[in-house]
Amino acid sequence: MVLAQLGGSISRALQQMSNATIIDEKVLSECLNEISRALLQADVQFKMVRDMQANIKRIVNLDDLAAGHNKRRIIQQAIFNELCKMLDPGKPSFIPKKGKTSVIMFVGLQGSGKTTTCTKYAYYHQKKGWKPALVCADTFRAGAFDQLKQNATKAKIPFYGSYTESDPVKIAIEGVERFKKENCDLIIVDTSGRHKQEAALFEEMRQVSEATKPNLVIFVMDSSIGQAAFDQAQAFKQSVAVGAVIVTKMDGHAKGGGALSAVAATKSPVIFIGTGEHIDEFEVFDVKPFVSRLLGMGDWSGFMDKIHEVVPTDQQPELLQKLSEGSFTLRLMYEQFQNILKMGPIGQVFSMLPGFSAELMPKGHEKESQAKIKRYMTMMDSMTNAELDSTNPKLMNESRVIRIARGSGRPVRDVMDMLEEYKRLAKIWSKMKGLKIPKKGEMSALSRNMNV
Ligand code: GDP
Repeated sequence: MVLAQLGGSISRALQQMSNATIIDEKVLSECLNEISRALLQADVQFKMVRDMQANIKRIVNLDDLAAGHNKRRIIQQAIFNELCKMLDPGKPSFIPKKGKTSVIMFVGLQGSGKTTTCTKYAYYHQKKGWKPALVCADTFRAGAFDQLKQNATKAKIPFYGSYTESDPVKIAIEGVERFKKENCDLIIVDTSGRHKQEAALFEEMRQVSEATKPNLVIFVMDSSIGQAAFDQAQAFKQSVAVGAVIVTKMDGHAKGGGALSAVAATKSPVIFIGTGEHIDEFEVFDVKPFVSRLLGMGDWSGFMDKIHEVVPTDQQPELLQKLSEGSFTLRLMYEQFQNILKMGPIGQVFSMLPGFSAELMPKGHEKESQAKIKRYMTMMDSMTNAELDSTNPKLMNESRVIRIARGSGRPVRDVMDMLEEYKRLAKIWSKMKGLKIPKKGEMSALSRNMNV
């Protein structure tokens, strides 16, 4: 992902600045120019970059900073705050509530990933106990209904659409009505896209929106559209009341800066990002961790603090070593499960990891999560040492899965579930590979300063 490069360039610029003995106007300008260049290369709109640069210069008045002030930190903080501000226009215009019917309309160009994203969004909520439903009001693209039907069937989500009806408004109304009667709490309406922005598309969107009165309109944008992002997002916003943005294909070669532009154009926050074609490859978007990653702090600043705070000093080096190697074995997962169950200090640490906390242990479901973790551990008890210590996911072939299922008296499906969970955590873990581990105290100071 090119965003990683952007992050690299920004942290290099900050690093160069900190190497300078005296930070004067010239050093600050050089640093800001470097950062601006990196943002422009990542397709952030020119005007936004220029404004950001001007704001930082205004905030960081070097003459006013008494000697002894840590200028580098103040500059870093200003950059962090500005980037957060760029990406955080506040809450979406509407936040659906579980158990209360909400109609969510998805809009975006053809190929942006709209239909895929509708299902991901439904599936994400379904896993959290919602009752979502999908309505295919895309009568423009041949095969759109089939695609939605296939995705919905796989994920066991109710859907509505028609092969014969050509009026999207009629289908949208019928679908929404039906699912309201069925007490679905998240009715997702997928609308038509076109290859490019054109009057017919916007007119149709307006009509569907008038007819279904959505609580929230989500604009889906392909992250690879580059500098066109701002204009495209603005055109959609002018036609319908876009209240949130989802940026797709963040896994590819996309520069990702388009996300910042879309936020600026729609004045709406990015709520999720798509990170692959699979239904699970969908992540909640959080501004602060995203920006701290761009600044080379990693998503893990708070996490590191916690390690220093609660892990006994003699256990820290080993854990940090494993973190920086980025290799996550089943045995390591087993050990962390043990810690979580004990809720010992390391358990607390791991419960801070995004993957461990939000997905594995959703709030309010602690009992179920504990039962699940215990189930996973029972199955892992039937694994061989080689299996537990392997980092090769291909090792777990069919016959091994069947053997583990038999050995632990669990259905094969449960073993597959556990292995999926392992893969998901291993993916998160792998992001920490090569992480520069800060010395004790260093990260705390930095995080405090950065407001993370
Ligand atoms: P629509 O025309 O906007 O409804 O787009 P589709 O949902 O049909 O998606 C277009 C293509 O993009 C499909 O091949 C999807 O599998 C793919 N796609 C959607 N979201 C993502 C994503 O986050 N990452 C990747 N790599 N591909 C995606």
